[in-house]
Amino acid sequence: MATIETCSPRRQRTRQLQVGAVAVGGGAPVTVQSMCNTDTRDVAATLAQIAALVAAGCEIVRVAVPDAEAAAALPALVRGCAVPLVADIHFDYRLALQALTAGVACLRINPGNIGARWKVAEVVAACRERAVPIRIGVNGGSLEKSLLEKHGHASAAALVESALGHIRILEDLDYPQLKVSLKASDVPRTLAAYRQLAGQVDYPLHIGITEAGTTWAGTIKSAVGLGALLCDGLGDTLRVSLTGDPVEEVRVGWQILKAAGLRQRGPVFVSCPTCGRCQIDLIPLAEEVERRLAGLRLPLTIAVMGCVVNGPGEAREADLGIAGGRDVGLLFRQGQVLRRLPQAQLADALVAEALALERELLAA
Ligand code: SF4
Repeated sequence: MATIETCSPRRQRTRQLQVGAVAVGGGAPVTVQSMCNTDTRDVAATLAQIAALVAAGCEIVRVAVPDAEAAAALPALVRGCAVPLVADIHFDYRLALQALTAGVACLRINPGNIGARWKVAEVVAACRERAVPIRIGVNGGSLEKSLLEKHGHASAAALVESALGHIRILEDLDYPQLKVSLKASDVPRTLAAYRQLAGQVDYPLHIGITEAGTTWAGTIKSAVGLGALLCDGLGDTLRVSLTGDPVEEVRVGWQILKAAGLRQRGPVFVSCPTCGRCQIDLIPLAEEVERRLAGLRLPLTIAVMGCVVNGPGEAREADLGIAGGRDVGLLFRQGQVLRRLPQAQLADALVAEALALERELLAA
C-alpha cells in the first residue's frame, strides 16, 4: 500500500495507563473519544448513540452523570457498551462511587472540586480497588475562582496551575493513575497550556479544544489545535468537541489522526481542487468515489485528479487513481495505467478496482 508519512516521528513519552482494555499513553496509539449528548437516564437512546459512535470508530465513550438517576443507568450502559465507558462527574463524590460500583472504566472528575479530603480519599480508594484511572479535566469555563482572581482570566498559566493542583492531590494519595486535559475554547491558549504542562509532568494528555463551535467552525478549530499538538508530539487521546452529532466528532478525530499520519483507518483520499485545465466533471466524481469507498477497511490511497499536470503523478503514487483528460480518464492501479475510460465509466471502474484490490490484499 502507498507509504504514509507521520508529522510526529518523536512523540513525547508519557506514562501508560489502562482505560479498560484500551491503553492510553506510553507510546500507545492516540485514541479517539467522544461523549454522548443523550440523556444518560435514557438507556435505550444512550446505547443507540454509543453503538453509532463505536461504529464510526470511537474507542472510548464518555457520558455525563449529573445525578443519582443518571448514575443508576450506568450498569446497563456499561453492559451494553462495546468500548470503555467514562463517567463524567462534577463535585459529588457519591456519584463517583456509584459509577465505580457500576463498572465504569474511567472517571472524569477533578479531585480539587470534590470537597473534604476524606471524600477524595474514598473515591481514590475505590478507583485503586478497581484499577480505574481518573481524568483531571481542566476547562477554561469552570476554573477555580481563586485562580481567576490571581491570573485575571483563564490564561494558559491558570489552566496549568489548576491542573497541577488537582494532580498534587492524587499524588499525595499515591494515585498516579491519571491523565489530564487542559481545554480552552481558543487554540492559542490551549496550545500554550498543553505545552507548558507537558514540560512539567509525564502523565498522558487527553487533548481537545473545548466548546470549539459548530461542526464546520469547530472542525477547523480542532484540526488546527489538535494538529499542532500532535505535530509537537503531544497528545495520547483526543476528543473533538462539536455543537452537533457526536458521530461527527469521531469522524473528525480520525481524520485529524489520519492527516497527521498517526493512525490509519479506511481509505485516504487525494483529489485536486480543479482549475481551468480540468476537462472532466471532477467534483461530483470525487464526491461519489469518496462516498462509495468510505467503507473500505484497508488504508488504500485513492487519487482523483483533474488533468495531466499533477494527475498522473498523484494517481501513480496512490494505490488507485484517476487522471482526467478531455471527457476521459486514465485509471491507475498501483502505479500502472489499467485503461482509458470515458468519464461516465470512471466512478464504477475505480470503485470496482478498489474493492477488488482490497479483497486481494485481505486474502494475501
Ligand atoms: Fe488543475 Fe490539473 Fe492541478 Fe487539477 S490536477 S488542479 S485540473 S492542474
